[in-house]
Amino acid sequence: MLERGQVANSWRTERWDSLRLLTPNWQSRLPGLRYAGPDPDGYLTVAEVTAFIERFAAVSHAPVRTGTTVTSVRRTDDGYRVTTTHGELGCRAVVIASGACNRPSVPALAGAAPASVEQLTPFDYRDPAKLPDGGVLVVGASATGVQLAAELQRSGRPVTLSVGEHVRLPRTYRGRDVLWWMDESGVWDQRYDEVEDLTRARRLPSPQLVGTPERTTLDLNALTSIGVELTGRWAAVRDGRALFSGGLRNVFSLADLKMRRLLDTFDEWARTSGRDAEVGPPERFPPTGVPPSTRLHLDLGSGEIRAIVWATGFRPDYGWLDVPVVDAKGQLRHEGGVVDSPGLYALGLPVLRRRRSTFMCGIEDDARAVIDHLARYLAAGRTDR
Ligand SMILES: Cc1cc2nc3c(=O)[nH]c(=O)nc-3n(C[C@H](O)[C@H](O)[C@H](O)COP(=O)(O)OP(=O)(O)OC[C@H]3O[C@@H](n4cnc5c(N)ncnc54)[C@H](O)[C@@H]3O)c2cc1C
Repeated sequence: MLERGQVANSWRTERWDSLRLLTPNWQSRLPGLRYAGPDPDGYLTVAEVTAFIERFAAVSHAPVRTGTTVTSVRRTDDGYRVTTTHGELGCRAVVIASGACNRPSVPALAGAAPASVEQLTPFDYRDPAKLPDGGVLVVGASATGVQLAAELQRSGRPVTLSVGEHVRLPRTYRGRDVLWWMDESGVWDQRYDEVEDLTRARRLPSPQLVGTPERTTLDLNALTSIGVELTGRWAAVRDGRALFSGGLRNVFSLADLKMRRLLDTFDEWARTSGRDAEVGPPERFPPTGVPPSTRLHLDLGSGEIRAIVWATGFRPDYGWLDVPVVDAKGQLRHEGGVVDSPGLYALGLPVLRRRRSTFMCGIEDDARAVIDHLARYLAAGRTDR
């Protein structure tokens, strides 16, 4: 196992200070290691996630070579040549587990914003004190965007949040964590080859969830209640002005509708599987409030906005992979983790084999299936599939 940094590198170096997992502690499970602390319904801090992964590396005796960056992987007659900062390796098979979130995804219009406005990505952001005083424009209303918008607003900086397509979820439903419902009801067990639109499922934004000891819901209604201003999707920059799409009402209704449908699915599952008595009564939540008026443009040179935080998602980095298996959108071409090149495999990607693959708790089943395939490939002792 080759790792360019230390074990749990992404958690040590690429996360902001206040982040906690949005998956509850009881869902922190890796093969043979489960959270066993006093607060199964809480959410791990970044330091706790790092310690958890370090412990896993120790108990699983993973043969990790840290401080070893892979700079190239090339196909050879009998496998792959892996070049690293500490020499070369010849391998019959390679598993790509380099992560789905190696780089923040920032739209090209960032280049058109005036230099007077500081720009940050979640990789640069650590805490509000690093930002100048004054207004902040947070772009993107998925898990990262809603969490940073709330933290910045509470720090006394007026926040405008630019909202595009998003996934609204309550933190708890009928007394249970909403991710308990995903887990138990089988929604997260849906296989990649059963998903209607797999490309879309793999690109779905992260849900508007935050892990706090109070298990609070952090949807757009919660944000407006603390004073965050909502605008539409940031569409263009013209003459130093940010232009936002209108139609927030439609964007909100769609997210509300999808949430309602999901809650209906949960209710139906609880009813038909005899679990109704275990949980509270069905709940319905108020629709997302549409502000009386929303701004369609914002003058970025006026001094009102001093910083922009791009919470527009993350993407993988396969710059080191010299095998033609990456599509035009920068995503690996694979079938349930079996990459489009004999002996090449992937783990740790969104909806790799099931919906739960997007999260840490999905790795056990995925790894078993992918490694089964890999073992058969090696046993067959041939280079075709
Ligand atoms: C902001 C954020 C919040 C998240 N919150 C949650 C959550 O609450 N719950 C949850 O289950 N999941 C969460 N995730 C997803 C989470 O990152 C994954 O579940 C988990 O960390 C994936 O582990 P991984 O090992 O596949 O990828 P990573 O953690 O990205 O690890 C990949 C490793 O590969 C190394 N690497 C990359 N390229 C090279 C190279 N060329 N040479 C050598 N080494 C290399 C990196 O240094 C890194 O250590 C979150 C992700 C992000 C970005």
